[in-house]
Amino acid sequence: MFRYLPKEAYGAMIDVIDNGAHLDRAIADTVAAGMKQWASEQGVTHYTHWFQPLTGGTAEKHESFLEYNMKGGVMEEFSGKVLIQQEPDASSFPNGGIRNTFEARGYTAWDASSPVFIIDDTLCIPTIFISYTGESLDYKAPLLKALKAVDVAATDVCKYFDPKVKKVSAYLGIEQEYFLVDEDICNVRPDLLLTGRTLMGHEAAKNQQLEDHYFGSIPDRVVEFMKDLEIKAVELGIPIKTRHNEVAPGQFELAPIYEECNLAVDHNMILMSLMNKVAGEHGFRVLLHEKPFKGINGSGKHCNWSLGTDTGVLLYAPGKTPEKNLQFVTFVLNTLMAVHRHNGLLKASIMSATNAHRLGANEAPPAIISSFLGSQLSSMLDELENSTDDSIAAAGGKSGFKSGLSQVPEIMIDSTDRNRTSPFAFTGNRFEFRAVGSQANCASAMIVLNTAVAEQLKEFKAEVDALVAGGKETVSAILSVLRVYVKKCKAIRFEGNGYSDEWKAEAARRGLDCETSCPVIFDSYLSEDSIKMFESCSVMTRKELEARNEVKWETYTKKIQIEARVLGDLAMNHIIPVATDYQNKLLDNVYKLAAITDKETAARLSADNMKLIEEIAERTAFISKNCELMVEARKAANAIESEREKAVAYHDTVAPFLDTIRYHIDKLELIVDNRMWTLPKYRELLYI
Ligand code: ADP
Ligand code: MG
Repeated sequence: MFRYLPKEAYGAMIDVIDNGAHLDRAIADTVAAGMKQWASEQGVTHYTHWFQPLTGGTAEKHESFLEYNMKGGVMEEFSGKVLIQQEPDASSFPNGGIRNTFEARGYTAWDASSPVFIIDDTLCIPTIFISYTGESLDYKAPLLKALKAVDVAATDVCKYFDPKVKKVSAYLGIEQEYFLVDEDICNVRPDLLLTGRTLMGHEAAKNQQLEDHYFGSIPDRVVEFMKDLEIKAVELGIPIKTRHNEVAPGQFELAPIYEECNLAVDHNMILMSLMNKVAGEHGFRVLLHEKPFKGINGSGKHCNWSLGTDTGVLLYAPGKTPEKNLQFVTFVLNTLMAVHRHNGLLKASIMSATNAHRLGANEAPPAIISSFLGSQLSSMLDELENSTDDSIAAAGGKSGFKSGLSQVPEIMIDSTDRNRTSPFAFTGNRFEFRAVGSQANCASAMIVLNTAVAEQLKEFKAEVDALVAGGKETVSAILSVLRVYVKKCKAIRFEGNGYSDEWKAEAARRGLDCETSCPVIFDSYLSEDSIKMFESCSVMTRKELEARNEVKWETYTKKIQIEARVLGDLAMNHIIPVATDYQNKLLDNVYKLAAITDKETAARLSADNMKLIEEIAERTAFISKNCELMVEARKAANAIESEREKAVAYHDTVAPFLDTIRYHIDKLELIVDNRMWTLPKYRELLYI
């Protein structure tokens, strides 16, 4: 921008990006001209508004710079008008009934705070996507509103501690887990190709038992892929920093340096499509599904989240002075309050048909949101809880309290204990929201988290101000509100093993949301408490929330429907014919033995084969019977009108067949002649 824009336009753009200033139309034309010049120099011929519809992916429609000049010739043009706004057909994207085909107009509008980028010959312009009547039809629009809400609310609270603070930004560092499989092998697994996960496949004899993959040396072919990916990512401005093997064989992770939240989300969306592309060039296919393989770890996307001021202070980093520490504790406790109050909604924000496989299993956070703080921070909060107004007064005035709060050891940042089982863990200067799924658009989780914290901070400020108005000194008012908070949000704090059954029972006693059915979990979006939160922070309206839930339920249903179809096809076209062929081979052997020996000897020699023959008969009969029943269950569910009830029916009556049918297929895999089994097995898929 510095190089391609006149000084005035450059200044105006910085004001838009940093301060959310309004963008003048005249400036837009100048910016568009600068962009086009830069892009043309990179060989760009097309542009597109790039947006994030509710499909969970990204969308783009390329237009060339070419315009007719009405004199029989053409010229290249790119105006501020087309930079700022476009009109794609909104009815073709999931919209939950907000748009009908007969009133299809939707708008994409430029998000000037996220830089444009170039893919191949196309200039991509990050945009929001809204309906003709202004409802958000994407992830970015509500995310920007949530970030605005948390900025305003947090800035107000920061002013208690430092009046110079003008802006608070949310930061996000995303750890992206993924699997790589050989493309050729993957191409003959219709389940992987069509659903992203294996619907069948017995565990390999060796998988992750030896714990030899995590942080192990990265296979050469994979390193080549990673290098290529990193270079291409950095070229797009995505600051990749970390790469390593993950726990499961064939599983890896990469992480960029954290960025402002909106930008980090955009970069992750770009990164996921870049990963697909680069993997193809290296003969791999990248699996972003949360649980591509049964019996080994699934993949998540840890969202490292924090807030920071324009004065350079990270609000979740313990400070060196009592004031800084009071600010730190203020933000930690308000965050815990928000997470406690909206724990069901936070779970809904990360829930999907695919992530449901990962939550609750042994390697991933359980389907209950709780927060791990580590022993030092926990004892600090305990101390605060047990302090009294008197002890604070004794410690004296502004310094507040001289106990634990004023002397958080500086080493705390590095020495925070680790708890891999916690879905929302404090990790030294940030919180790590680990329950987010590997293929998710993190905006979903970030919209809820930032809005919840914004709402809470507003309430906190109102409470403190009321006490101050009543004559209380500010520090003392803050402390007395916080002391109540420590008690109120205690139920969300959990330091133990999140995988244990005891925790499930304990969490239910504490009143945390323990629902495990994905479509029912989505109900949290429509609770009065959630709607109030979104509306009071101007992030989403009831109408938008209702529409988005329709999309969630519909997507859930479709995902299970596709899996059921694919499994049915594979069972009937691959598994049963192959098993029957093998059974015939065994029968042939039994017949021939009978022909060359006496009856008794034949029976003795054929005993094992007879057992196999029977087992195959029973299992194939079970499989075909249950495939039929699964079709019946689908038909019954399809007839249900309400999207919610349909999704619930798919969850309760269709999805269970996927597991029971699979069980018998996996047993057949163990006995059928390996030369006849047409589908590649786990041991072939998992080892590169
Ligand atoms: P882990 O120890 O959890 O495996 P990694 O080093 O793989 O951590 O990734 C940590 C991520 O957290 C990186 O993206 C990093 O930039 C990010 N991060 C570090 N500090 C902050 C912060 N204050 N706010 C947000 N993200 C942060
Ligand atoms: Mg992590």
